[in-house]
Amino acid sequence: MSSLHIPSLLLANGSVVTLCGLLMLFSWWRGRTQPALLWNGCMLLLAAIGLVCNALRGLGFDWLPIIVGNMLLLFCAGMNWTVMRVLCGRAPRWPWLFSGALVWWLLCQWPAFYQNLSWRILAHTLLMSCFMLLAMRELWRARRKLQVSVLPALLLIGLHTLFYVMRMLISVQHTDRPLQENPLFPVLLVESMLYAVGIAFVVLAMVKEQIEQRYRLAAYSDPLTGIGNRRAFLDSGERLLGLCQRQQQPVALLLFDLDHFKAVNDRFGHSSGDKVLQAFSQGAQLQLRRGDVFGRIGGEEFACLIHGRLEDALQLAERMRQGFAEHCVEQHRHTVSVGVAASDQAGYDLERLLALADAALYRAKHAGRNRVMAHGADMPPQGVPSC
Ligand code: GH3
Ligand code: MG
Ligand code: MG
Repeated sequence: MSSLHIPSLLLANGSVVTLCGLLMLFSWWRGRTQPALLWNGCMLLLAAIGLVCNALRGLGFDWLPIIVGNMLLLFCAGMNWTVMRVLCGRAPRWPWLFSGALVWWLLCQWPAFYQNLSWRILAHTLLMSCFMLLAMRELWRARRKLQVSVLPALLLIGLHTLFYVMRMLISVQHTDRPLQENPLFPVLLVESMLYAVGIAFVVLAMVKEQIEQRYRLAAYSDPLTGIGNRRAFLDSGERLLGLCQRQQQPVALLLFDLDHFKAVNDRFGHSSGDKVLQAFSQGAQLQLRRGDVFGRIGGEEFACLIHGRLEDALQLAERMRQGFAEHCVEQHRHTVSVGVAASDQAGYDLERLLALADAALYRAKHAGRNRVMAHGADMPPQGVPSC
């Protein structure tokens, strides 16, 4: 490595890190919705300046590489940590961001420290490692949210930290020579270049995974009520049915249709109708257990798949029907009809469960609405108190 031409390496390093930074800024500029790209772009551009400053030694103004260059690099380490915080949805911590650079400046005011290369290497490595560990802590916290891209990011920052520590251990044995003649200097330049490319790639991958998650969530959720839509209900329902079939546990499906909802819209307006839908969804969710699947499968139609037998489902449906009928939404009461089907009759076929529950719901509507009906076991209608 020591035979490598240092000025050429410096030029390559500066160009690659700058290019990565500019690409990051360009990616941010296109949508301007991902602040992590802006942070990472600025971090790489500042790191390119810091690396060049750091290399300008032996030219008679050592304060530039020793104080300014290292302060810039430590500030970049703080920015690197901030990139991970922002990616994980957390706010930057401004005082801490500057703390590394500030500590370095203060230490350099102490002549014994400024003159001692071993101490400088030790302090620089410790400060750098602290920021790297903080960045890794952010990533570790986000490991469940960003399952795919977090591991390469952790690995990259972990290796970078390890490199810094090893470099410190070797460098303190070569403090008699100027930095450019240190056998590790070319390795440092190559490593920082690889890290810049790696971190740009990893941050882009994390941003991409976040955008994909956002689109997936939008495609599976109902914006009005915040619960799963028809697609989400069918997907989760199939999964629950498969699980219950394997474990031979009973399941039941409840199908809800709000009564005379067209008239609700006509009488009170569409926005009042929306509030009724939200109130029904919120009230119904209060009755559900962990593992139950609930979703809005049509305009004013909701479905719920639960672990349990027909009797359990009828009791739950009746509690939901009653709770909704007794609840006032903007000083008016509304009702819902419910059709129930269970795996005892329909098996573990979601389509068949939906068809049987729909037939029971149809009978509930024809029998006068505001009631629960199921194949073979129907609940009698209850009185509804007025507001
Ligand atoms: P029934 O008791 O027989 O179910 O009568 P209904 O009036 O509820 O029957 P229908 O299914 O014909 O009417 C459903 C109405 O739901 C029609 C539509 O305008 C309304 N609707 C569908 N989606 C929404 C929504 O997101 N917001 C509001 N406010 N109304 C909606
Ligand atoms: Mg309907
Ligand atoms: Mg209806």
